[in-house]
Amino acid sequence: MSSHLPSRRTFLHLAGTGLALSGIGLVPATSTAVASPSAPPRATGPVLLNFNESPYGPAPAAQAAARAIVADSGRYLFALAGELRDVFAAQEGIGTDRVRLFPGSSEPLNRAAVVWTSATAGLVVADPTFESLGDLAAARGATVARVPLTADGAHDVRAMVDAAARINAGLLYLCNPNNPTGSITPDADIAWLLAHKPAQTRVLVDEAYLQFSAQPSVIAQVMQRDDLIVLRTFSKLYGMAGLRLGVAAAHPDRLRELASLGDNPLPVTALAAGLASLREPGLVAQRREQNASVRQATVEWLRKRGFRCVPSEANCFMVDVQRDGAAFTAAMAERGVVIGRSWPIWPKVVRVTVGTEAEMAAFRTAFAAITGAPTAQG
Ligand code: PLP
Repeated sequence: MSSHLPSRRTFLHLAGTGLALSGIGLVPATSTAVASPSAPPRATGPVLLNFNESPYGPAPAAQAAARAIVADSGRYLFALAGELRDVFAAQEGIGTDRVRLFPGSSEPLNRAAVVWTSATAGLVVADPTFESLGDLAAARGATVARVPLTADGAHDVRAMVDAAARINAGLLYLCNPNNPTGSITPDADIAWLLAHKPAQTRVLVDEAYLQFSAQPSVIAQVMQRDDLIVLRTFSKLYGMAGLRLGVAAAHPDRLRELASLGDNPLPVTALAAGLASLREPGLVAQRREQNASVRQATVEWLRKRGFRCVPSEANCFMVDVQRDGAAFTAAMAERGVVIGRSWPIWPKVVRVTVGTEAEMAAFRTAFAAITGAPTAQG
């Protein structure tokens, strides 16, 4: 089960509490007004801190661009995809032949499992991490080595390289910052991994949350290496999860392998909104700072009450709730705050998406009611 989709059990539970439809976003928000980048759309229903979505949605310029292009959506508008690819490549300083667009980054992740893992070519992932690649590879008969994160939440690159040699890995997955922890793996560790991994092991670095952090990207290295694939998505900081746009950056041979499973034109609304987002000056810095400030205040509030969080640089964090994580998540949902789940390796630690200040105030109120922690702010 992909970790960002509700399980049937969760859905039924939410249905039982009357949260199901609005809780997973099936009921659209009533307000579609173009807001400033920092003003969230008017919220209705429960507080959603479960899928690492942006509470702010697409930037106002991106919303306007998506609306404006609907009239032209009788056509595929392939040239628009080319324009977006070129702008992205120029901003990242890489060749346009190193960039391929997809409807979200789930698509190249799934394709990576299919083309680079098999019964004889294993996969190495961290534990905990974003599970969709590992789940798909395992379902297709690949050996999956799950390597626990280090105590500070980094990928244990030395243990991952050992595992890659042991299972003859075709692919190694490194998510930076990591989902669900939001923790980072230092640049020097990634450099060490790339220098020491087995020759036959390709490395996929998932940078879905990189824009929230101060970490450097490894994307420029796709100009020199043919064994590195870097993924980006417009679903997180750009707030376009429902519009679907992602990027794979790699050597042209690797992009051809990903493309070997067939083509699929992109939604023109996503292309228009994506281009407008890339061209919006200050958007990344503004949203990064906004997210960091709300996250730090929440983590500090929890820390003062004795609840430990894994250090995060993303729009999510994990908190040790010192009790069964599944029961805690259910209790929060009953109070109208839908948070993420726990991972099997850490059953008492739950993932929380960083929402708006108002949403995190609701989080604190529900958290305090369940744990008995003092509610006073600060
Ligand atoms: N990679 C990571 C680390 C994620 O957390 C997610 C979604 O939550 C994805 C990829 C896939 O997102 P999308 O398909 O919306 O780009």
